[in-house]
Amino acid sequence: MRRSADEIAKMRRAGKVVAEMHEVTRAALRPGVTTAYLNEVAAEVLERRGARSNFLGYHGFPAVICTSPNDMIVHGIPGEYVLEEGDIISVDCGAIVEGYHGDAAYTAGVGEISPEARRLLEVTERSLWAGIDQMVVGNRLHDIGRAVQQVAEAAGYSVVREYVGHAIGTEMHEQPQVPNYWPGSPGPTLKSGMVYAVEPMVNVGGPDTYVLDDGWSVLTEDGSLSAHFEHTIAILDDGPEVLTV
Ligand code: MG
Ligand code: MG
Repeated sequence: MRRSADEIAKMRRAGKVVAEMHEVTRAALRPGVTTAYLNEVAAEVLERRGARSNFLGYHGFPAVICTSPNDMIVHGIPGEYVLEEGDIISVDCGAIVEGYHGDAAYTAGVGEISPEARRLLEVTERSLWAGIDQMVVGNRLHDIGRAVQQVAEAAGYSVVREYVGHAIGTEMHEQPQVPNYWPGSPGPTLKSGMVYAVEPMVNVGGPDTYVLDDGWSVLTEDGSLSAHFEHTIAILDDGPEVLTV
């Protein structure tokens, strides 16, 4: 779907709230802090900005952010987990402003992290930006996933298949999906006004996943570390605009 300039302006405002949720949760990352506390500081941003949560109550999800440490890929529920020196933690945040959605995630280290973890974060973030670089009018949708996959696999890592990016607007998850790999066909042509959440999930080991008994937490099957970076991006005539900064 193509969004009007007015709709994109609203998504820009939602994106700014999400960026602020990133800022406050990043600033709170240190050993001894619980993931429930990260959820609290993120919820304060929503409150302060008069924004609504698109995560809270989504298929019953109980929090305004997802927190996924180490070998957890996505959808972790904030709670009693206490951050430890050397952990990596993925924090996924979302907001609704005037009916329009923003959605973005980052992964960061807690204190000093291993060289391998540092490299995973660097490669995964770089794969996101390689995908964003493809978001120009006239390209095809799956040029995005192809670029993400190339960066991740060139580093010896794998991209998750079961969870993907998505169009976004008046709903958080709209069609079409945006895989982080080449799905075998180029997909629709990118047009001005389209808005997508691009979100590579990259594993040090294999791409396979499993879900915990809580019904949410997705982990790497082989126990390897995983990182997740996401932005909401509008395709405009003069190139991509990242809305969640
Ligand atoms: Mg997200
Ligand atoms: Mg998303």
